[in-house]
Amino acid sequence: MNAAPVLEVDRLVKHFPVTRGVILQRRVGEVQAVDDVSFSIARGETLALVGESGCGKSTTGRLILRLLDPSSGSIRFKGEEIAGLDHGAMRRMRRHMQIIFQDPYASLNPRMTVGEILAEPMAVHGIGTPEDRPGRVRDLLGVVGLLPEHARRYPHQFSGGQRQRIGIARALAVNPDLIVCDEPVSALDVSIQAQVINLLQNLQQRFGLSYLFIAHDLAVVKHISDRVAVMYLGRLVEIADKRTLYATPRHPYTQALLSAIPRPDPNADRTRIILQGDVPSPLNPPTGCRFHTRCPHAVARCSAETPELRELAPGHRVACHLADTLAPTRMGAGGDAARGKFAERLALFEAAKQGMARREPAVAASEGFA
Ligand code: SF4
Repeated sequence: MNAAPVLEVDRLVKHFPVTRGVILQRRVGEVQAVDDVSFSIARGETLALVGESGCGKSTTGRLILRLLDPSSGSIRFKGEEIAGLDHGAMRRMRRHMQIIFQDPYASLNPRMTVGEILAEPMAVHGIGTPEDRPGRVRDLLGVVGLLPEHARRYPHQFSGGQRQRIGIARALAVNPDLIVCDEPVSALDVSIQAQVINLLQNLQQRFGLSYLFIAHDLAVVKHISDRVAVMYLGRLVEIADKRTLYATPRHPYTQALLSAIPRPDPNADRTRIILQGDVPSPLNPPTGCRFHTRCPHAVARCSAETPELRELAPGHRVACHLADTLAPTRMGAGGDAARGKFAERLALFEAAKQGMARREPAVAASEGFA
C-alpha cells in the first residue's frame, strides 16, 4: 500500500434545510447529516465507514463523489480540491472516482444489454474507440468472473450476485483510482457475499484501487478493511487500524457496537453493553458529545462541550473527553470476533478468498441465472 493519500476529507459538513409551507417556504431547521468529518484514504487502502442506519455514512460517500454538494469543508482527490468544482469539471473527475451501489438492479438500466451498460461510461468519458469497446467489455466481464456471452443479456437475466459483478465491472470500465462501495453486499446471500467481497479484494490488488467501504456488517468490515472509521449521528467518533479497533476500542459507542457481536460463550452477555434509548434525530442532535444521551460514562462536560477527534496512539483517534481515563475494553485475542457465528462468517470469507483465483469463472457461473 502506498502511503500517499488518494483522498483527503477535512471538516466536511452537510446540513439539509428543512422547510415548511407550500408557496412561501420557510426554513424551520436543518438536518445535520454530516458534521465535521475528516479522514484520508491511501492508494490501495480500504477504509471502512461503519455505524447504524442514518448515521450519515452514505451521505458522506455521496459528498465525496459530489453527488451531493457539501455545506462546507474540503475534499481533496489526488491533491486537487474538488469540493468547489463545477458540474463539468466534476463530471471529468468522476472518471477517477466511481461508486458501487447496494442494489445493483436498481442502478442498471433494464432496457440496456450488459454490453451497452459497460460501454456507456467509456463512451461518456471518451475511453477507447467504438470499435475497441466490445473487446474491452469482454475483458471487463472476464475480470469480474462473467462470460463474454453475458454481454448480450439483460440485467433481469442475472442473479443478485452476478448483477453486483456487473455493477463492479461498470465501475472498473473507466479505470478509477477510488471506488465508494455503498453497502455492496448487504442485499446478497451470505455465500455470495463472500465471493463478491473477495472479488473486490482481488481487483484492489490487481489495479491498486482505494475503497471507501460503507457498511454496517462488522464481519464484512473486519474481513475487507485496513482501517475502520466509526460514525455516530453525523460525526466520526473513532478511527483506527482494524486490529486495534476490534481488539481495544476506546470510544464507548464503538465498544457498544462491538459488544453486540454474538458469542457462543454463555457468560458473554455479562459484558454486552446495552445502549439505552434510540438514536436522537439529526434534526435536533444533542449538544456537546452527540452520544451523551446514551453513553453509560457521560459526565456534565459531555453535554456542554463537543469532543474533538484526537490521537490517543499513532493512527488511533477518538472523540471522547474521557478516552484517556476510561479503561480500554479488551475484546480478547482477535476481538470478540474470534468466536461464534461471526467467526464462521470470517472463515467463509477466507475460504472464498483461497478458492477465488482458480475458480473465478466457475464461481460466477455457479451463482446461476435468476
Ligand atoms: Fe460518553 Fe462523554 Fe465520551 Fe461522549 S464524551 S462518549 S458522552 S464519556
